[in-house]
Amino acid sequence: MEVKVSENLTIIRQNIEQACKRTGRNSSEVKIIAVTKYVTAERAKEAFDAGIIHLGENRDEGLIEKWNSLGDRPTWHFIGTLQSRKVKNIIDKVSYIHSLDRISLAREINKRSTERIPCFIQVNVSKEESKHGISAASVLDFIQELKSFEHIYIVGLMTMAPLTDDETVIRNTFRGLKQLQQEVQALNLDYAPCQELSMGMSNDYEIAVEEGATFIRIGTSLVGREF
Ligand SMILES: *Cc1c(COP(=O)(O)O)cnc(C)c1O
Repeated sequence: MEVKVSENLTIIRQNIEQACKRTGRNSSEVKIIAVTKYVTAERAKEAFDAGIIHLGENRDEGLIEKWNSLGDRPTWHFIGTLQSRKVKNIIDKVSYIHSLDRISLAREINKRSTERIPCFIQVNVSKEESKHGISAASVLDFIQELKSFEHIYIVGLMTMAPLTDDETVIRNTFRGLKQLQQEVQALNLDYAPCQELSMGMSNDYEIAVEEGATFIRIGTSLVGREF
């Protein structure tokens, strides 16, 4: 039988608490996004009812399906690669987009939105070829280029660590994102306060929390995997 979301949540919250204790952080800074892409709308509702406000989807179809069932009570996050032609399908449903990685996408988001949309820039810190996101070296230039888009508001940076057991590799990826965040903040741009770090998934969220994550995106170990 499937484990209740609330039971998984209790364990994850304890792990976050301990990671915060180890590094002198306040756990109230760490928000959990339940990634519901592998589960039904019913299971997503269970997560919301367990007290998880933030829900994340990586495909427009999944987002719309869950949105149709749960409406706008959760705070919706779009966490996956976003094709420009799909922006119009999700733009009035999501509160955050975690995968801004090119100017053409920024232009489309800017055009389709009537208000400022909080976005994370997705950065390929680990330089894996398979990973989406812009290179760390181009983040500052990219942000400067966003200046003319009045509806783009850069709340933070997002990354995915490599799938590996090597903790050092994972930790260095998250540290690299934190370092970049400080460089962005030093620009003092009103459209890019960059106060958030979206990093950490089921396998590596404790390391991410130790390294400064403010949003962790957890699917499998929180809501499970049905398909
Ligand atoms: C699927 C996904 C997650 C969650 O992955 P789990 O390993 O199941 O926790 C987090 N972030 C992104 C971008 C994803 O696509």
